[in-house]
Amino acid sequence: MICVHTNYRIVECVGNTPLFRLSTVTGELERQGVSVYVKAEHLNPSGSVKDRAAKAMILDGIRSGQLTEGKSIIDGTSGNTGISYAMIGAALGYGVTLCLPKNANIERKRILRAYGAEIIETDPLQSSDGAQLAAKRIAEEEPEKYFYPDQYNNAENWKAHYNGTALEIWEQTDKKITHFVAGMGTSGTFIGTSRRLKQLNPSIRTIAMQPDSPLHGLEGMKHLATTLLPGIYDSKVADGQIDISTEEAQRMQLRLAREEGLFVGISSGANVSAALQLAAGLPPGSVVVTILCDSGLRYLSDGLWAKESST
Ligand code: PMP
Repeated sequence: MICVHTNYRIVECVGNTPLFRLSTVTGELERQGVSVYVKAEHLNPSGSVKDRAAKAMILDGIRSGQLTEGKSIIDGTSGNTGISYAMIGAALGYGVTLCLPKNANIERKRILRAYGAEIIETDPLQSSDGAQLAAKRIAEEEPEKYFYPDQYNNAENWKAHYNGTALEIWEQTDKKITHFVAGMGTSGTFIGTSRRLKQLNPSIRTIAMQPDSPLHGLEGMKHLATTLLPGIYDSKVADGQIDISTEEAQRMQLRLAREEGLFVGISSGANVSAALQLAAGLPPGSVVVTILCDSGLRYLSDGLWAKESST
């Protein structure tokens, strides 16, 4: 869409992302009549799926009077939500302060600084839980200064996917989707999209992807059994679970870049890997959809590229 409206702003470009059909990493699946699609959330304006939730939570804060002129937005984030808050805060004129584990990679910190956000570094050993608790404490200490969206407990997070992502996937697959697969950080993407898809067609099955161990970090993904459970998580929504190792996720991340031209992050590699595992056992006519969560550009200083000579 070309928009010539003079008040058109970057925030209005969130969502309505393309859905691509995978054609090479799928191997024999296409011949077996099973298709796998990816929702290209890395093409959102700040480069990740979290633009949807951040936009919904900020607009709700403004509507409800909790976010007023002069206040700053504060939250805990492993990076992507922070970048989305920073982009939207800059566009709408709000300061943004983010609690971020100290070991968050340099790309994330530099992007946040580029948008003008303030960073408070938290204990890396406590990962995203530590960032979340720090943001809560600061927001409670200075309620007149901060708006605290609390992404782990804010219903606007999953509703952004209930009202957006799910309906887009439903239309883009011509109502033919049979299975949805996604990993969980706050769980907003998985819970919101799954809830709506199941209302649209109760026979749709939704499968949660998880890292195969609490020790194996898949950036942005929680190992639910060993972390603070997000308030918006609902254990009744998933019909099944597939565990993916970091090595497998990285392998698929590279294959997506080299065989499909999709340069995305490690959680996207993990999602596609889980989607392909699921698809391998499905009957002809099945249509599997998963999420490409963020851009590969956000990981250039990370593990995969540290062993660059071997890749
Ligand atoms: N992938 C990445 C890289 C993320 O940062 C996140 C959010 N932390 C997700 C996926 C999952 O999104 P959600 O919070 O909606 O579960």
